[in-house]
Amino acid sequence: MKVMAKIHELSSILSDQISAGEVIERPASVVKELVENSIDAGSSRIDIEINESGLKGIKIVDNGSGIAPDQVKLAFKRFATSKISSQNDLFDIHSLGFRGEALPSIAAISNVAMKTSDGKQHGSEIQVYGGEIIKQMPAELRRGTSVEVKDLFFNTPHRLRYLKSASTELSKITDVVNRLALSHPEIAISLTHNGKEILRTSGRNNLLQVIAGIYGNQTMKKMLEIKNENENFSLTGYTSLPDLTRASRKYISIIINGRFVKDFTLNHAIIEGYGSKLMVGRFPISVIKIEMSPSLIDVNVHPTKQEIRLSNSRELSDFIAKSIYSFLAKENLIPDAMENK
Ligand code: ADP
Ligand code: MG
Repeated sequence: MKVMAKIHELSSILSDQISAGEVIERPASVVKELVENSIDAGSSRIDIEINESGLKGIKIVDNGSGIAPDQVKLAFKRFATSKISSQNDLFDIHSLGFRGEALPSIAAISNVAMKTSDGKQHGSEIQVYGGEIIKQMPAELRRGTSVEVKDLFFNTPHRLRYLKSASTELSKITDVVNRLALSHPEIAISLTHNGKEILRTSGRNNLLQVIAGIYGNQTMKKMLEIKNENENFSLTGYTSLPDLTRASRKYISIIINGRFVKDFTLNHAIIEGYGSKLMVGRFPISVIKIEMSPSLIDVNVHPTKQEIRLSNSRELSDFIAKSIYSFLAKENLIPDAMENK
């Protein structure tokens, strides 16, 4: 064994590179974090340009709040955030981000060029390479932010090796963008890959239209609108009629307070709402949105923030299952009556 050296603090660049692994697993993680920042900045329009499944380049342009010139460097510092300031805020999260880790993590393992303007002062342009700020200068710019990421994983080759095929990485990116678009139909979002448009939403806050854009017009025609609320939860969304199913659960999206969440129990509640109407191994296409008090949600469970902890998970599951069940029951009156003839 090597003789151990004295304990010393790692440089911030090295510690950022190490922790980057938790937040940025693949190109799709970069897209998720940057688009979430654009959403948090109040953008009404977000354009995403991908090259070679994100390995050549990822560019996100938004028209959100931008960053003031004296704050641009700070945005790349670990645990620096504008979204929370005290411990209490952790139980009242209204933004998608709050950990202040995404930009420093991405910048630690790539070449980042950001242009940003808050529309009040001159804009700024900053370039960060492998965690080091290469240059910062004033720039003429309209309000908003563009972030371009190149040479992803150039200094962490083990990450590169771990990536799957280009088509798998692209489908992970598409998946991330689809869920973000479903979560925020009020934002006009576009995704292009190698210059070819993959998705474009209108930003007119029409969820059914976004569903049509992602899953097709035929699917859209078979989606049933669901709405329900009680004192704790408000539920809106769409779920497929029992004759339109898929062999995988991945067409189920649950969105809580604008955040797509991965939660087996809640997904299962949707399936439970179908009772015996689904065949074994078949699953619906569903987009279910829940609004509830942020004080009942712990988002700070995992760096990617897709897993959350709910203090009333049981009640929410029951509420989802009952809502779906009652809407499907109403819908079935007609076919049942015909069968009985
Ligand atoms: P977090 O989102 O958790 O706060 P990030 O590292 O993703 O941490 O971003 C750091 C900060 O940079 C944010 O808190 C925000 O103030 C600013 N920022 C990042 N991206 C944007 C953007 N697209 N528009 C405006 N501000 C941004
Ligand atoms: Mg963020």
